[in-house]
Amino acid sequence: MKELILASNNAHKVEEIKSILEDYNILTLKDINYTEEIVEDGSTFEENALIKARTISKYSGKTAISDDSGLSVDLLDGRPGVYSARYSKEQTDEKNIEKVLLELNGQKSKAKFVSVIALVKPDGTELTFRGECHGEIIFEKRGTNGFGYDPIFYVPSLDKTFAELSAEQKNSISHRKQSLEKFSQYLKEESDEN
Ligand code: IMP
Repeated sequence: MKELILASNNAHKVEEIKSILEDYNILTLKDINYTEEIVEDGSTFEENALIKARTISKYSGKTAISDDSGLSVDLLDGRPGVYSARYSKEQTDEKNIEKVLLELNGQKSKAKFVSVIALVKPDGTELTFRGECHGEIIFEKRGTNGFGYDPIFYVPSLDKTFAELSAEQKNSISHRKQSLEKFSQYLKEESDEN
């Protein structure tokens, strides 16, 4: 089985990525004993994803991947964007959601989740793969599954929030599914060439 190092310890992300890339042995930062904080000071999802994968590829001498993701709300000019994980002072899912709803002040808005997978190889190859999932922000939280902003991210075609979907349902339509699908396609083409 092929091995990839995933530059993340976010249990929810790791779980989702493992279930979508099921043919790969995915190692996390814990597995390689990497304990330092990686400063994500890029201004785009692509820049931050590359910062994480680059750091870990350099540290391990192996191919590393990372996911940088977040919520982009139309009426908030794309915020919280790259600041999604640390949007509120407290940096908790609950407070981050509260801040988004407070800023929307009762206005309904379209929004999208974005996921960028970065791949960095020891030979210096750097690639990114972007996935997006479109929906709306609702004013009250619904559902208890998932993580982050899932309880307020509503998908009109399903009449459900992400937090009301099962893991399988979310993983079949999510931004992360779409970025990983592009990434899997790349891996397949690469292995066909070799
Ligand atoms: P990152 O670890 O810097 O990529 O931050 C990602 C943040 O974006 C998470 O902490 C969540 O707040 C938000 N986010 C990303 N993907 C999802 C998702 O699938 N559902 C809900 N929130 C998400």
